[in-house]
Amino acid sequence: MNCYECVQQSRTAAAVAVCRVCGAAVCADHVRTESKRLRGPASPGKMIHDQPARQLTCPVCRAAEESL
Ligand SMILES: [Zn+2]
Ligand SMILES: [Zn+2]
Repeated sequence: MNCYECVQQSRTAAAVAVCRVCGAAVCADHVRTESKRLRGPASPGKMIHDQPARQLTCPVCRAAEESL
């Protein structure tokens, strides 16, 4: 699969990730990586797993999320 953003610019690059929002395949240059901490409901006496989740998006969806 080729990068969708590159195809839009009449280029070809192998995709390394898929946008979690729109499903477009993106190359290493176009992928946007974000670490988001998922917080579950706090329960007393329980270990809180504070492991950040990885979210991969394309530049278009990343810009759309930042404009919210
Ligand atoms: Zn690309
Ligand atoms: Zn996207």
